[in-house]
Amino acid sequence: MLEYAVFGNPIAHSRSPQIHQAFARQQGLPMVYERVLAPLDGFQAALADFFRGGGVGANVTVPFKTEAYAAADVLSARAQAAGAVNTLYQQPDGRILGDNTDGEGLVRDIVDLHGHALAGKTILLLGAGGAARGAVGALLAAQPQALTVVNRTADKARQLAAEQGVHWAEYAAVAAQRFDVVINATSGSLNGDLPPLADAVLAKAELVYDMMYAAAPTPFLAHARACGAAAVADGLGMLVAQAAAAYALWRGFSPEIAPVVAQIRAEMEPICA
Ligand code: NDP
Repeated sequence: MLEYAVFGNPIAHSRSPQIHQAFARQQGLPMVYERVLAPLDGFQAALADFFRGGGVGANVTVPFKTEAYAAADVLSARAQAAGAVNTLYQQPDGRILGDNTDGEGLVRDIVDLHGHALAGKTILLLGAGGAARGAVGALLAAQPQALTVVNRTADKARQLAAEQGVHWAEYAAVAAQRFDVVINATSGSLNGDLPPLADAVLAKAELVYDMMYAAAPTPFLAHARACGAAAVADGLGMLVAQAAAAYALWRGFSPEIAPVVAQIRAEMEPICA
């Protein structure tokens, strides 16, 4: 019986099975966890089959996080704030709880794994899509001095800022400002496109973070380094930490994150012939 799964389309690239198997080994329990390629028009049906068949927990990735939000019977406060769900859990009463652990994963990665405090800091968040929406609540809970959102489509930044009580600005308007931490939550990096942020902002930052992750430095982080950013980090730790929060919800056990990040990083290294 399939108890745990990650739903997405595409899904073959997902590292979630390896991550959750590593957590299960820490707990000393077996775990059946598989990737599910849901049809683009068939996510709800695939999810219903999964839970009817005894599924306990599911992770949800692109492009189904908004549909997962609609599919949940109950929503956590942070899922409501994000308007998106990345974790589903069939509670003992049979109701499906929708949660969003992306923001918790981001903050744990920056603060616990990379050792950069966010309290009292100025943060610039690039992007106003699903990942940015999931991040804002957790970033505010870390008590920064200020959190500013910029987005290519300014209206979306304005809307996100109004909903979640943060500042927003145009990219051009922050060009001469200094932010302690710059977080890239845009998807442009996937195609090698850099967000239209002034190099000077990257040069002055003490940490530049990219939610995207890859075996080699992402284009955004390579550029930030070239601009002189003091430190850079990609989103692999966020991926593992958001999974750890899902695992804790499902199985009541909080796994160690750092060794799993190291394991997955090693598995991602290009193999040299
Ligand atoms: P969405 O499609 O919901 O949002 C994309 C965002 O990127 C929008 O704000 C969009 O702006 C912006 N954008 C896209 N292209 C460009 C560009 N060329 N220049 C400037 N802005 C651009 O994506 P998600 O929010 O789901 O994902 C964003 C990133 O976060 C992805 O790289 C994803 O892989 C990563 N991610 C990582 C996670 C992790 O665990 N490490 C978890 C979740 C996401 P506009 O509104 O103008 O279109």
